[in-house]
Amino acid sequence: MLLIDGKWIETPDRIAVHNPFSGEIVGYASRATREQTLLAARCAKAYESTLTAWDRSEILRGTAAQISRQEQQFVAQIVDECGAAVKEARKEVRRAVTLLEVCAEEARRITGEAIPTDVTADRKRNLAVTIRVPVGLVCAITPFNRPLNQVVVKLAPAIAANNSVILKPSEKTPLSAARFVRCLIENGLPPSMVSLVTGDPQEVGETLVTCPDVDMITFTGSRAVGERIARNAGMIRTTFELGDSGALIVLDDADLAAAADAAAKGAFATAGQSCRGVKRILVQESVADRFADLLVAEAGKLSFGDPRRDDNDIGCLIDDAAARVVEERVHESVEAGAVLLHGSPRDGAVLGPQVLDFVTKDSALVREETFGPCAPIVRVQGLDEAIEWINSGDYGLQTGVFTADLHRAFEAAHRIRSGAVIVNDGPQFESPFIPFGGVKRSGLGREGARFAIEEMTTVKTIVF
Ligand code: NAD
Repeated sequence: MLLIDGKWIETPDRIAVHNPFSGEIVGYASRATREQTLLAARCAKAYESTLTAWDRSEILRGTAAQISRQEQQFVAQIVDECGAAVKEARKEVRRAVTLLEVCAEEARRITGEAIPTDVTADRKRNLAVTIRVPVGLVCAITPFNRPLNQVVVKLAPAIAANNSVILKPSEKTPLSAARFVRCLIENGLPPSMVSLVTGDPQEVGETLVTCPDVDMITFTGSRAVGERIARNAGMIRTTFELGDSGALIVLDDADLAAAADAAAKGAFATAGQSCRGVKRILVQESVADRFADLLVAEAGKLSFGDPRRDDNDIGCLIDDAAARVVEERVHESVEAGAVLLHGSPRDGAVLGPQVLDFVTKDSALVREETFGPCAPIVRVQGLDEAIEWINSGDYGLQTGVFTADLHRAFEAAHRIRSGAVIVNDGPQFESPFIPFGGVKRSGLGREGARFAIEEMTTVKTIVF
């Protein structure tokens, strides 16, 4: 279904959405034409919101409450369309609810400044007041992983800031997005304030990116697509949340059990399909053997496979092709001298946790973003080597460092070039209250309720 000008529309041409574990069709995404996409943008742009901050806050709060009440349905939808395990989908829904609640609070705190101007030699006395106004039409383009949360992360702050929105979710996982949009409307969001389009990524995506009605693009997805959008979008506001080769540093004075626990959680959650997951573990040589044993033990505790089974910790990847890429990189890495300490063969889109040691820095497994359940250990001599390697790469989203020494933690925090450095936890750390985003090729701009609202508003100055 498409949502254009407040009306849900079926298209004759549709894309089947498959459960990646069973292969069964679990729904359809409409295939919007270029004309429908442009119309959807034009209608959302033309809508003039009269909602007050109170109204927007209530809509977001009501939506959060409804999603909580319908947790089972949202969980089932996520499990069906992206293959996340039930336990993980439940966490995703709760995270989405929290973010909506936080954005509901922030909607009532969008304030400005009063600035006196009698500070120059001409003694001119005015009062300048700044207010934050919506940027206009926000185009949100979202990836397949965490299909509810990735949408909430963009739409909740956009609505809090009183923008109209056009949403283009991934064609692989459009169903949770549509369910969420319905929920917003059932809780009072004027239907014309939001458009939803799905379809061929090239046709719909590129149409939106170059559409003159769009005032801002907020994109989450791969580096390749992000860079393409950056080249095509022209002079409009953009934020990009792209990939990472998320690093976890484990130094010789670290609490190794805690580090192994964080490494396993960061590397294997959602079958490794998380932008801020652990994608490489830089372990100081002198503790690497002990750390590897602990990590293998953690990996061995995890059950994986059928996402619908309540007792599985991990489901499957988004499709067979995605799992094959990971499998091939593990294989190449072993050919190049790495040792596979723990792992099992791929079965369709299912790939269990893989733990590798002695991975070389030039291996594609750690050089590129490997979007799968892998924990590759790269042995390093010390903090300097770890920092130099991380800083020499293209990515910089979040980095974790385990050490008991405050000075080393400070040094890592200051010298590592990434959006966040997490001391004694993994790069997967998240909170709706902190800014989230990358440097270098990991992205531009920040998410996190208050910070996303800043990105989605413009400062306007009124001088008295
Ligand atoms: P993707 O780049 O293939 O697709 C993302 C979105 O872009 C989809 O909606 C897709 O249809 C759309 N798209 C594809 N081609 C387009 C084009 N030419 N113009 C406009 N839109 C286009 O990414 P994916 O495979 O769905 O998601 C995985 C990637 O997302 C990983 O690289 C992951 O690291 C990244 N990601 C980043 C974050 C973050 O916050 N930094 C969060 C989640 C995922």
